[in-house]
Amino acid sequence: MMAAVLYGKEHLQVEPVAVPTIQNGDILVRVKVALTCGTDVKVFSRGYHARMIVPPAVFGHELAGDVVAAGEDVTQFAIGDRVVAANSAPCEQCFFCRRDLQNLCEDLLFNNGAYAEYIRIPARIVERNTYHIPPNVGYHDAALIEPLACVVRGFEETAPRPGDSIAIVGLGPIGLMFVKLAKLYGCRVIAVGRRKTQLERAEALGADEVIVAGDDSDPVKAIRDLTHGRGVDIAIEAVGKPQTWEWAVNMVRRGGTVNFFGGCPNDSKVNLDTALLHYSEITCKASFHHTPAYIRKALELVCAGHITAGFFVNNEEPLTNLLEVMRHLMSHNGHLKTAILP
Ligand SMILES: [Zn+2]
Ligand SMILES: [Zn+2]
Repeated sequence: MMAAVLYGKEHLQVEPVAVPTIQNGDILVRVKVALTCGTDVKVFSRGYHARMIVPPAVFGHELAGDVVAAGEDVTQFAIGDRVVAANSAPCEQCFFCRRDLQNLCEDLLFNNGAYAEYIRIPARIVERNTYHIPPNVGYHDAALIEPLACVVRGFEETAPRPGDSIAIVGLGPIGLMFVKLAKLYGCRVIAVGRRKTQLERAEALGADEVIVAGDDSDPVKAIRDLTHGRGVDIAIEAVGKPQTWEWAVNMVRRGGTVNFFGGCPNDSKVNLDTALLHYSEITCKASFHHTPAYIRKALELVCAGHITAGFFVNNEEPLTNLLEVMRHLMSHNGHLKTAILP
């Protein structure tokens, strides 16, 4: 079969590899669609990811497809089933899993290899984090549940209430998912992004106000001007830069909540005003990854038609073009996701 193999920094090759063999509890899936993800672009440009993948390795983690083989112990799935599998599954036994923090599992099993004709889904993921796709839901839509689960979890962790004002900083696919979700919850959304196309997309998803984060603009002041000088109830940072982390803290009202959702490059530091954090009682939190419960929640949102690929995926390419796609995504910010059709 053809598969993308990541060898290191900006080095990947689409080449023939053996179709994965499966063990008792595994399934083999014919990939119908694999979505590009900001994390994959990061991994491609850096050549590593501390937790997710160690090159050389098959690559890609957002996928939907058809079961073409199932191990003898597999009872939930059969050949021909349309499925979506998450990219990880927790152990359910460690300190963190027992506290319902499966995203922080000490033995989180990651699976990569979605940019390929076939992918093996290991038993633990088959058991705990693979789902049937209902007939009315497309593969592109179903493949969104992995990033969406991270977003739903991150959003709920800020304890939003209907009518809350929410600043969303960064309008890539993740930021745009936050926009859509916040509108579904009945919040007032102020979207902050650099590019006109991103701001237009945010508006199309229902953002109530948009703010341009240009080099000579002051998004913090703009947010305060829109909120009687108080600041927003919740600010979500979906960029992953120290400067935008700092903005987010300065955008919330007294007693407000900040979610540092975007991961910054290793060894980044931020400057926070201790008096502001203390006397304004600002809650700062960060969110990483997802749990099976949130994968299921994301799938429900997709199945209900609330979240569809149309707004987040704007391009389709064959697997053979993956290298160009990755290079393009790396050098041009502000892109949506590309559907790779292996
Ligand atoms: Zn992803
Ligand atoms: Zn665990």
